[in-house]
Amino acid sequence: MKIGFIGLGNMGLPMAINLAKAGHKVTGFDTADIPLPDFIEKASDASSCATDQDVVITMLPNGTILQQVAKTIIPVMQKGAVLCDCSTVDVRAARQVGKSAEEAGLMALDAPVSGGISGAEAGTLTFMVGGSEAGFAIVAPLFEIMGNKAVLCGEAGAGQSVKICNNMILGVTMIATCESIALGDKLGLDREKLFEVLSTSSGASWTVNTYFPAPNVGPKSPADNDYKPGFAAELMVKDLGLSQEAAQDVDADTPMGAAALTLYKKFVDDEDGLGRDFSAMLPRFSSRSRG
Ligand code: NAD
Repeated sequence: MKIGFIGLGNMGLPMAINLAKAGHKVTGFDTADIPLPDFIEKASDASSCATDQDVVITMLPNGTILQQVAKTIIPVMQKGAVLCDCSTVDVRAARQVGKSAEEAGLMALDAPVSGGISGAEAGTLTFMVGGSEAGFAIVAPLFEIMGNKAVLCGEAGAGQSVKICNNMILGVTMIATCESIALGDKLGLDREKLFEVLSTSSGASWTVNTYFPAPNVGPKSPADNDYKPGFAAELMVKDLGLSQEAAQDVDADTPMGAAALTLYKKFVDDEDGLGRDFSAMLPRFSSRSRG
């Protein structure tokens, strides 16, 4: 397939490389001057990157930038092509871009990912997709190259909606896990024993079983690498913020999500959390008392 790829940052570049290595003709564009391997053609702007492509993939920082880029590229994309946004953006922006693309005779998918930079490099991402079955069928072989799993979750915006629901659980359970371990420490528990019981009891969760936030306990995780991300705390702030925005829009009561956002925001803004993995909440709780 002929693919335009816009946004070649930490996630986008390895995804584009995997597509090109699998034999697709990939043209890339980024506003930053990012060195590209010779098997990816460099476009001079977003429009030329999107012209005459079967699929255009975007991997951008946020919904405002996505909307700006979409406004530029939708008019030049060929009819019947698919605009597939893999960024994490607000549900409203995803729906708006989906609608504009469809009005212009294109197909659109919102297809945010989980799996992080290592998943992008290894081609093991999970895609949560919103949009039409026809669009999904066209892009499915590309999802297979860039990832392990792609699920069509519903209409435009459904991919972003699933992503923020998932990450709201993730943020809340990471905090619950970290505060429980910090409490266990103060009660004099051995972390290894705590892990052994939690991971096989009703306290089990992904954050306990596969991402235990204490060094040298449980499977390897960023805690074993001085809390280098992994999944940076500021990205958790972004995703929890998006879930609260969406909750506000549809009048959903999400008190735990709101509390997790407040804690992560404080951690990033005032408590040295910026640039650390989101599991570094554990040393944060360990260093504090109730007051
Ligand atoms: P990044 O900042 O490394 O990459 C974004 C790229 O977009 C940058 O290279 C930037 O120069 C480029 N860009 C900005 N404006 C542009 C424009 N108008 N036209 C073309 N390029 C433009 O970010 P990332 O870590 O690659 O994340 C990308 C998206 O994926 C974000 O929405 C993020 O929330 C999401 N995401 C990231 C991770 C992760 O672990 N990094 C995991 C899951 C999802």
